[in-house]
Amino acid sequence: MAAVPAGENHAVAGSRSRGSVVRTAGSRGERTGIMTNVHILGSGTPTPTPDRFGSSYVVETGGELVMFDCGPAATQKFARAGLGILDLSATFLTHHHYDHAVDLPCLLLVRWDQAVNDTPPMMVCGPQPTTAIVDELVGTNGVFRRDIRARIEHPASQKTFEMRGGVLPRPWPDFRTRDLEPGDTVDGGAWSVSMARAAHVQPYLDSLAYRIETPDGSVVITGDTAPCEEVVTLAKDADMMLCCCWDHQDGSEHIDECVAEGMVGTMCGPEEAARMAKEAGVGKLVLVHSTPSIAQSEPAARAVRVAEGIFGGPVVFAHEGLRLSL
Ligand SMILES: [Zn+2]
Repeated sequence: MAAVPAGENHAVAGSRSRGSVVRTAGSRGERTGIMTNVHILGSGTPTPTPDRFGSSYVVETGGELVMFDCGPAATQKFARAGLGILDLSATFLTHHHYDHAVDLPCLLLVRWDQAVNDTPPMMVCGPQPTTAIVDELVGTNGVFRRDIRARIEHPASQKTFEMRGGVLPRPWPDFRTRDLEPGDTVDGGAWSVSMARAAHVQPYLDSLAYRIETPDGSVVITGDTAPCEEVVTLAKDADMMLCCCWDHQDGSEHIDECVAEGMVGTMCGPEEAARMAKEAGVGKLVLVHSTPSIAQSEPAARAVRVAEGIFGGPVVFAHEGLRLSL
């Protein structure tokens, strides 16, 4: 069936047919033979280091790829993971902090530039104003309109497009965008995504946690959040939870600037992530979005020990490039 979620802002012809095998929430344990992998592309913070920078994850299921967050260099990390940009069906943003979204223009331009006329469209979803941001980037009045126009109209770019199999005239970028709210669902055919409010820096930025159901099980991506009942409910009995783990909370580590400024949100450390995982009853906890200090070998090992002691299940401290099977 062609997945055409209600409420999308740009309908594009050419949706490819997909299966409609979607498991219900909480049905952990059944195996379908479809290999589902979770790729950790970005597992750092706004502080760039050689090994970590920002957030980005990809769920690979049934030949489709679904990205969650598009932090710094996510497009290149995506290629480094051996993933094909035209297999990317949808991108979900948890919120619009730059360490989660700054590579979106690069991703949109590359996805468009590599595509030909019958390439399936990509969905771009997130809390408001995702639709407006996409339009401000690659719309006909967007900041990248000059580059796009040059690639559409210059004969050399037209030739490149035709060599890829494209047929002129080359179409303007057109993504299926959708602004999401807690409680919404997005049906991708072979996968579906539900969501809940995450507690972060409201009211400045809306934040969502996501749960993707695949034929092989479910994965929750918390995004940035403090311990939050809505996220725990969303994660109930999920097979895997990727939870932010900013730092140890016992002294020498960073305190999130959001707290210092009196905003609503903060972040989880290993204890908070583990408590949420235990309360939700998830199958595996993956600690992501880690500062340079906790990502060092001893603090990271301590984070795993602390989290395992509370959670009682398997805990992974993620590094960029890690691939986990569901
Ligand atoms: Zn954030």
